[in-house]
Amino acid sequence: MYWCRHCNVPLIGRRCSCGKDGEAVTLLRPYDVRPALHHDMEILKGLLLERFGTSRLQQIVLFNKAGGLDRNDLVLMNGKRFGWLSFDPCSKEYTLDLAFEALPQVLPHATQGVIDITSAVSAMQAEGKRGHLSGKRIAVDTDEPDGTVIVRSGRHYGTGQLSRGYIRIKHLGHIEEVVLPDPSWEESVRCNRYHLRNMERTAVRFIRQHMRGAERVNVSFSGGKDSTAVLELARRAGVDDVYFVDTGMEFPETLEFVKQTFFRDVPEPKFKENLVKSTGIRRVLNASETPEALNGEDFWAHAERLGPPRKDNRWCCEVLKLQPVKDMLSKEGECVTVQGNRWYESFSRAELPAAARNPFNPLQLNINPILNWRALEVFTYIWWRDLPCNPLYDLGYERVGCWMCPAMLESEFENTRSLHPELYGRWMTYLKRHAQKDLPDMYFRCGFWRWRRPPPKMCRLAEEVGVTIPEERDLLPAAPG
Ligand code: SF4
Ligand SMILES: [Zn+2]
Repeated sequence: MYWCRHCNVPLIGRRCSCGKDGEAVTLLRPYDVRPALHHDMEILKGLLLERFGTSRLQQIVLFNKAGGLDRNDLVLMNGKRFGWLSFDPCSKEYTLDLAFEALPQVLPHATQGVIDITSAVSAMQAEGKRGHLSGKRIAVDTDEPDGTVIVRSGRHYGTGQLSRGYIRIKHLGHIEEVVLPDPSWEESVRCNRYHLRNMERTAVRFIRQHMRGAERVNVSFSGGKDSTAVLELARRAGVDDVYFVDTGMEFPETLEFVKQTFFRDVPEPKFKENLVKSTGIRRVLNASETPEALNGEDFWAHAERLGPPRKDNRWCCEVLKLQPVKDMLSKEGECVTVQGNRWYESFSRAELPAAARNPFNPLQLNINPILNWRALEVFTYIWWRDLPCNPLYDLGYERVGCWMCPAMLESEFENTRSLHPELYGRWMTYLKRHAQKDLPDMYFRCGFWRWRRPPPKMCRLAEEVGVTIPEERDLLPAAPG
């Protein structure tokens, strides 16, 4: 990614529309940098206000996912590191760890959270302890609560972590006050329009190449941002057949979004029939085209037999998504399907080919025109083309899928707990009924249920909070009845 220092916007190619070349910005793997949206900005502002008495942020803030126990994002602002935002899956709290590069932005407005260590440093020096302060632990007398702080030593400022009367200094240096432009995302879209046009042209050409000679071409639309972008590209390429697989476990927001996007003029009671009959779009029901399927009955019936889907046991994909498409194509025959898979989404997708037969459904050739787009490109494209977008992104979800998806972060489950308490409650009740009787509440609350065999970092966390992860054999679903 690049950054135009003149316009102060992220660039998806080197050259900005203003004519200047951007500076390269180093990202963390898997490099899926994305814009901070409404809920994200509220969290950041709340944490800044609580800690430093100011909630001033630029309008353009980006996140770069980093590894961790749950949500853990490197926050980028002004093309530089601003800090790390992380979510604790057990305490359900967010923390913001400020980066040194954020100080020119935060310091001028901070009314609290700044600790003067000048005298402590002088005392250390008087004792003959000299050298770099970075990494040092200094005793301080302060009323500030533990957490990230700004430290001052003479004319130098820095960041540190305060814990039980000690600050561990992270970085200390000279801060220069800078006044930077504060552009909106609209301006960023304008600065990137040349690249957006190129990306669109390449993607449309790619789809058209695969349309040649194909009897049937359709778009797989999930209601997420990637398929929203892909749907637009496919339409521009001339594809007018779209299917949406309703797993029966979709967020109400997703169903509403699909309905509003494609059936704006269709009155509510006719929604189901029109989804099926409409010329442009068809609905695929999740197993059988029964009214029960619409309420997730298929899912629950399977879940009774198979136990909850888990990150390492995703039986749901086959049952809820792949099988309905297989049923559809067994009636219709071969097709080329335009999909929104992307390399940068996760390590497991990093090697996906641009076109490949679906191994579960050989009648389907999947093509991925936005394989090399990052989430930043996807959102910028959606905004450039002024496309409607699923509201869940603004509500704090990074990805959109089933509302009980085990691949979700605990931070996202926490959103569901407040957004849809009835769905969350139903899921917790189901999980508890299916688990060993003696599993503590924390096993569910912290999200350990999402794995049959949790990864080592989650096992360590379980140990810390006193939760015993059940043996895999004990996770088999209870016998019917
Ligand atoms: S979105 Fe999640 S829960 Fe739904 S089918 Fe996919 S993996 Fe399973
Ligand atoms: Zn510029």
